Amino acid sequence: SPAAAHVRSLLASYPDFPQPGIMFRDLNPVFANAAAFRSIVDELVDGHHGRFDAVAGIEARGFLLAAAVGYAADVAVLAVRKGGKLPGTVLTEEYDLEYGSARLELEVGQLPAGSRVLVLDDVLATGGTVAATSRLIERAGYVLAGVGVVVELTDLAGRSRLGDASVHAVVSI
Ligand code: IMP
Repeated sequence: SPAAAHVRSLLASYPDFPQPGIMFRDLNPVFANAAAFRSIVDELVDGHHGRFDAVAGIEARGFLLAAAVGYAADVAVLAVRKGGKLPGTVLTEEYDLEYGSARLELEVGQLPAGSRVLVLDDVLATGGTVAATSRLIERAGYVLAGVGVVVELTDLAGRSRLGDASVHAVVSI
């Protein structure tokens, strides 16, 4: 796809960041290219087959995607935030990272029950982050419409943690 070609040519890779043994994929050069960013947003809108009523972006780079995809698809935008940043009644999911643990949160009552939510993030690695987000979506009373990511790191088998969810990756590495 045009988006995949942009990502493959612009993606930067940093060995041993932020820890030894990790190959960090930096998408900032991709987002910093207007044609590349637009093609990614277009593909994330079109690449999901089936209706969605909202997008949920995962902090922080998922927010950038969710804002643009939500606007382009004319749907609602939810922000899935790191722990401790949201007021009111909040659902929490804690999950293990490659090192340490993390907490993601979602405010309740933002959409009608049964709303179909497309989850967006920049990178799918072990899948823990998206899996925790899909639990938040379901606990909030919504339906996981699918998952869209720019880069899927296939070695880490993140997809296998997402059950039968429909996952669209612009590029699989
Ligand atoms: P996972 O939970 O292991 O799938 O990790 C995915 C989360 O960590 C996403 O929110 C990504 O933003 C971040 N992440 C993991 N690996 C990378 C990477 O190589 N580059 C940028 N972000 C990454």
